[in-house]
Amino acid sequence: MLERTVALTKGMGTTLKYFFTHPNETVSYPEERRQLPPRARWKHRLRRYDDNLERCIGCELCAAVCPADAITVVPAQNDPEHPRSPGERYAKVWDVDLIRCIFCGMCEEACPTDAVVLGPDFELSAYTRQAMIYHKEDLLEPER
Ligand code: SF4
Ligand code: SF4
Repeated sequence: MLERTVALTKGMGTTLKYFFTHPNETVSYPEERRQLPPRARWKHRLRRYDDNLERCIGCELCAAVCPADAITVVPAQNDPEHPRSPGERYAKVWDVDLIRCIFCGMCEEACPTDAVVLGPDFELSAYTRQAMIYHKEDLLEPER
């Protein structure tokens, strides 16, 4: 009994010490927001070059390297008159299933053109699985 009381008192002492010496860590989200770490990795973005061409060349390396099998890329040949990317091919379809994704960042590591990056957008919720599959149209940067 005495042993338990001593242990409880020690535990309470630690709680009280931290209560008075550490600032309140709770924030009133979503009104208040914490600063994310600079390398936070959340929702994917598909980038463009300065001339607005899409960086993605549809090589499918991101899909091949993904350990969660979350990415689907369907490449297509560029129209030489109106290319969408600097390569022979572009991504006709670029989908990522954010329910499967574990945000490991391997897709961005593997990408030869820095087309795919994981950004700071962490507010990812939906009522259906289907709504958690993001398509190229949702992820591609707007034209400048
Ligand atoms: S972050 Fe990782 S798990 Fe998610 S799509 Fe990229 S490679 Fe796959
Ligand atoms: S995002 Fe990068 S790795 Fe994936 S298909 Fe496009 S160019 Fe290839």
